[in-house]
Amino acid sequence: MADSPPAQARAGVDYPRNLAEFGEFFPDEKSCVAYLERLRWPDGFVCPKGHVATAAWRSGRGLNVCPTCRRQVSATAGTIFEGTRKLRRWLLAAWEVTSQKYGASALGLQRVLGLGSYETAWAWLHKLRRAMVRPDRDRLAGEVEVDETYVGVEEPGILGRRVVKRLIVVIAVEMNEGRIGRIRLRHVSNVNGTSLQGFVVDVVKPGSLIHTDGWQGYTGIATKGFRHRVTVIRTSPEPAHIPFPGVHRVASLLKRWCLGTHQGAISEEHLPYYLDEFTFRFNRRTSKARGLLFYRLVTQAVRTAHVDTDALFLGTGRGRLSRRNANHNR
Ligand SMILES: [Zn+2]
Repeated sequence: MADSPPAQARAGVDYPRNLAEFGEFFPDEKSCVAYLERLRWPDGFVCPKGHVATAAWRSGRGLNVCPTCRRQVSATAGTIFEGTRKLRRWLLAAWEVTSQKYGASALGLQRVLGLGSYETAWAWLHKLRRAMVRPDRDRLAGEVEVDETYVGVEEPGILGRRVVKRLIVVIAVEMNEGRIGRIRLRHVSNVNGTSLQGFVVDVVKPGSLIHTDGWQGYTGIATKGFRHRVTVIRTSPEPAHIPFPGVHRVASLLKRWCLGTHQGAISEEHLPYYLDEFTFRFNRRTSKARGLLFYRLVTQAVRTAHVDTDALFLGTGRGRLSRRNANHNR
């Protein structure tokens, strides 16, 4: 079961089916702006103060004008695309990110879009990642396997050497009669009850059956409105992947993805966003139409708050010059 779509989207009408149609959908910047407006205000323009416009008002520069308060708003204002003059390239970046099975790397994106710098491509990718999780998304339900795994990230060590640090990721997997459903992931700093059960409470509906191993961090989850099934691995005659097929499958795919697509080049600070991207892709893995992923990503992007590029680079160790470069190229 995939995350429910925001609307009934039709291939070839609401989103392009392939790159050739992408060209027909978006011949110029104007068509890109019109597309964003359609996704952002499907029922007509709503100004930031909440006034609903019954008739479209346009300023001389083509901005939406609120008939009530006269405020002028662009389609990108307040979204991750805010301030760009290269909307078509942004949409192409979203297309690139969603059309590849394992996602795009910053280097790949830079090449395909002909972006001036690696830092720009990196910043764009991160902004798109922030749009990959709907804040109002549904919680998992039914039978849910929960377990922890580790992913390795590289950090600068002494004498310029890179050191690998192992970070904990908790995984929750919906199981429907032995088949894997939707997932949720979270990076936690430890495996105590507060971290693990806090995650379960946030992402799983009460009344669901939580299936875990015998780790004490899960003890007491039944007092929080869940049913709890414990399979103690150590005393079980079977290897761990048999009682927990869902979390083991997801953990191995996640590790392979971190190493393969990103070559381990994920920082601890940005791990949550990579986990969001993995979740976005995984929960839509059965979707045949790549264009539908594009549609969902852009829909979420116009409803995701603007992120300042400087804020993205904080703590990454990237230089001031790079930041300026990235801002310049947006
Ligand atoms: Zn208004």
